[in-house]
Amino acid sequence: MDGSGLPETRSTCAYCGVGCGVLLRPDGRGGLEVRGDPDHPANLGRLCSKGSALGETVGTAHRLSAPRLDGRDTDWDSALSHVAERFRETIDQYGPESVGFYVSGQLLTEDYYVANKLMKGFIGTANIDTNSRLCMASSVAGHKRAFGTDTVPGTYEDLEEADLVVLTGSNLAWCHPVLYQRVLAAKQARPRMRVVVIDPRRTASCDIADMHLPVRPGSDVALFNGLLCALYERGALDAAFLAHVEGFDDALAAASGDDPAETGLSEAQLEAFYALWAGTEKVVTVYSQGVNQSSAGSDKVNAILNCHLASGRIGRPGCGPFSVTGQPNAMGGREVGGLANTLACHLDIENADHRAAVRAFWGAPAISDRPGLKAVDMFRAVETGQIRALWIIHTNPAVSMPDANRVRDAIAGCDFVVVSDITDATDTARLADVLLPAAAWGEKEGTVTNSDRTISRQRAALAPWGQSRPDWAILAEVGRRMGWQQAFDYAGPAEIFREYAALSGVAGGFGRDFDISAHADIADSAYADLAPFRWPATGARQGGRFFGDGRFFTESGRGRMLPVHWRAPVAATGRDFPFRFNTGRIRDQWHTMTRTGLSPRLSAHLAEPFLEIHPEDAAAQGIAPASLVEVSSPQGRAILRAWVTDTVRRGDVFAPMHWTGETAPSARVDALVAPVTDPVSGQPESKAAAVALAPF
Ligand code: SF4
Repeated sequence: MDGSGLPETRSTCAYCGVGCGVLLRPDGRGGLEVRGDPDHPANLGRLCSKGSALGETVGTAHRLSAPRLDGRDTDWDSALSHVAERFRETIDQYGPESVGFYVSGQLLTEDYYVANKLMKGFIGTANIDTNSRLCMASSVAGHKRAFGTDTVPGTYEDLEEADLVVLTGSNLAWCHPVLYQRVLAAKQARPRMRVVVIDPRRTASCDIADMHLPVRPGSDVALFNGLLCALYERGALDAAFLAHVEGFDDALAAASGDDPAETGLSEAQLEAFYALWAGTEKVVTVYSQGVNQSSAGSDKVNAILNCHLASGRIGRPGCGPFSVTGQPNAMGGREVGGLANTLACHLDIENADHRAAVRAFWGAPAISDRPGLKAVDMFRAVETGQIRALWIIHTNPAVSMPDANRVRDAIAGCDFVVVSDITDATDTARLADVLLPAAAWGEKEGTVTNSDRTISRQRAALAPWGQSRPDWAILAEVGRRMGWQQAFDYAGPAEIFREYAALSGVAGGFGRDFDISAHADIADSAYADLAPFRWPATGARQGGRFFGDGRFFTESGRGRMLPVHWRAPVAATGRDFPFRFNTGRIRDQWHTMTRTGLSPRLSAHLAEPFLEIHPEDAAAQGIAPASLVEVSSPQGRAILRAWVTDTVRRGDVFAPMHWTGETAPSARVDALVAPVTDPVSGQPESKAAAVALAPF
């Protein structure tokens, strides 16, 4: 209850990976009143502009209210039978590799678990990938290479306890605002805390920075390799901790082969950063899409991890590398094995013992024995006809994938496309043969995991709109209609959560990090009341940090430093395409705006698509402030309004990625991005396309 005496529902914000707790109360007009949950450990009552506007975005405008088959409303029975039959026919004729699921970090863990089980365990291919591939796959790869598992070592409290917070490739102020508020409050309380922002752009996060390093795009490996050398030369390594780490000599040799001048920073800037890092005991390095969305994303992550491993600044209060995820449940997706190259509960798809254990646990007829197609490759397979039946769930790849026009055309040419979403008003939904109305945030029950491993409940405060259903129920029903009655006979999300928790106990038997098996017998009532908790849920590390004890999940049990070398972005700038094109978020919009676009308050912040360009570049190109600019790349073109500003470096331009064919057809900026990926993680290089500019 709040002061009004009406009951409130405790839930979790629908947007970013900070995972803020919210208290919801129907406003009597179909919407919700929303306030921050003072008892949630992620936000302690705080909310950002997006979170506080959640109640304005739960209306029924543009909602999909009934299943639709070939453009006509139909009933659930017909729609689900059709989906099951078409997938079954495709598999029978072309084999399991001919189908794919492309899902989302917006799914709840229980939804994700059922989708993953259906595809990897029963259909028998690992062709399930998620839009989290575009968000943090490089962090997953970096973690696994260094730690043996995809483990975030620290907690949010570390950002407050650190004496130096380094934000690299992270505009925390706009993309993870409540975490930024926590850092700001800590800095105000402890003025000796220092903040360094490493970003080609001077972003809003620089407002609290003691130092801004405007690096050349893509040069992070050179910067952190230089830091590793500086730590060595200054005697700032931790010899005792290095006894728990392997690969130091090779990593240092590789690092000393790189030239930090590749960053474009002056010697004085480099010296100041290296001296500050080496001289500060408690350092947290926060990284996000600016690091991950790169053809060298995994190496960037490992260059950062190398510095923390070598200096022992990991797994202790106020210390550690910290990957912050973009979406509300990217972490839950990682945990259930929602990526094409992972298995449930942090088990490895390439490991025969792990596969056998999961198969036995699920009673699955066939489990995939190799990684499936990662996002970019999946849509290429759709284009070539290898994938003939595709189910897209809560994501809009016709806009958000790199080379988006080609992806849109590939989906349009696919034999059979199912889209589950809350709306039919997306570029992707328009291409569907079958549209399935999914319950929205505020209407469904389940769990999500935030960036510091805290699992929280999402709860329903509104009735599902129209005939919409929760995703787990839709997926399970298709599984049953494909012939796997018993495996998908779930009564509700609590039963799925129990099964998932029990499977984490199986993973624990293999010494994996992810363990919530303490909840394997949780009663429905306890699940309903489940309070936020940080995994692991048992053992010496319960709810705490990893690796401060020097114990890792590699075969040797030691942490692993990797030799990595700087390399330039794949798309070369030159005479025809001289500008480096960076894409990202703005403060008040989310993904392709299907929800935040419904709030006039949020849309008022930055109302139209734009291109940030340096004044000298604008003058040289004959581009006047606020005029229209044609931006072109080998992949596509867009028309954007010029925002002439010295917050970007000369030669770089920046555009937000939110607008779509539905909202601004000329501003689909991912149509300009080349479909090149990191060879390890498969994550696309969404921040370093090469483009040309001309007045429009
Ligand atoms: Fe929601 Fe993220 Fe804002 Fe928190 S910081 S209220 S999770 S959008």
